Amino acid sequence: KMRFDLLRDQPADPLLKIIAAYAADLRSDKIDLGVGVFRDDRGETRVLEAVKRAEQRLLDRQTSKAYLGPDGDKAFVAELGARVFGADFMRPWQGLQTPGGTGALRLAAEILVQAGVERIWLAAPSWANHAPIFAQAGLRAMAVDAFDVAAQRFDAEAWMDALRAAAPGDAVLLHGCCHNPMGIDPDPAQWRAIADVVAERDLLPLVDLAYQGLGDGWDEDAAGARLVLGRSRYGLLAYSCDKNFGLYRERVGALWATAPNAAAGAVVQSNLLALARANWSMPPDHGAATVRIILEDPELAALWQDEREAMRRRLHALRGELGAQGRIGDLDLAPIATGKGLFATLPLAPGPIEYLRREHGIYMAGSGRINIAGFGIGGIERFCDALHAVVD
Ligand code: PMP
Repeated sequence: KMRFDLLRDQPADPLLKIIAAYAADLRSDKIDLGVGVFRDDRGETRVLEAVKRAEQRLLDRQTSKAYLGPDGDKAFVAELGARVFGADFMRPWQGLQTPGGTGALRLAAEILVQAGVERIWLAAPSWANHAPIFAQAGLRAMAVDAFDVAAQRFDAEAWMDALRAAAPGDAVLLHGCCHNPMGIDPDPAQWRAIADVVAERDLLPLVDLAYQGLGDGWDEDAAGARLVLGRSRYGLLAYSCDKNFGLYRERVGALWATAPNAAAGAVVQSNLLALARANWSMPPDHGAATVRIILEDPELAALWQDEREAMRRRLHALRGELGAQGRIGDLDLAPIATGKGLFATLPLAPGPIEYLRREHGIYMAGSGRINIAGFGIGGIERFCDALHAVVD
């Protein structure tokens, strides 16, 4: 029998349903906390001014669209890498441009398989696409219950126990900052403990850094990644520019590998290039070229930094405002104030989530994940009033 007859229908991404329902909702005061993109206080996800100017320059000055190669825009990779790793990073690193952070994660998973790694440990809940990406590439995703969702707390002990029990050569996924979906990152002492056990157990760290500069600040948000990768023999860093440059659909990412010495790094890089060639031959150019133009020009870089900082401050202010509401019935909003980035996950059952959607036009993921940036002017007050109705 032909194999296509054996295919089973696959469920659509549940978030897509929420997006469609939100679009069809006619209430003018509806609130979208579902989709994971930054929004300004008018609910818009606008193209950054620095991006607009860089794109104009690209349009004016680009003279050829000839192929670049499997590593994409080399200057993009070098300029961005220097800022991501920082001047004090001691190990050799090299990398390549990828189609978004997703492409970087996929390539990371493939080189892990190539290197004989069979298992990757991850702290659950994690971004919904992590486990499928790893499984598709042939890795076994070992999910550890490392968050107390009801208490909105990172269970560092559970996570450390799992890492201590991992076999040497196992891989471990770490969110660099602004954890999706919990919004809770390890504190500096917890990062040091993670770096210790990763080095002692000779685990292979894969750091997913998709929100740099939207948590505590540019260097602060890379501190965990730098620490862990600086101490392990080999490591991988999957990066996305899609949030911090607002480039989402342009699919801008990079994958870097760290190695004990330059010769070993060159071997890893040659394998990454071969894998990229077999996947997408070469990545799309436009978004990465735009980022490169911004980073190469001090004026554009300063403008982008201001715009990114404005996004970060908005998230921070909204978190403070939500957290200050404290308890609403059983639900404690206080942990949101100390969280980072776009997301928090509220311990709400499907019933209340559905009720908020139906009665109040408030849309969130079925898991209780909310996008903090989804609150426009007056949104938090409306949300809290609606919460009173469900949890009191
Ligand atoms: N990692 C995490 C934790 C994410 O939240 C996302 C985006 N939702 C990605 C990676 C992928 O980013 P990109 O859109 O660049 O593929």
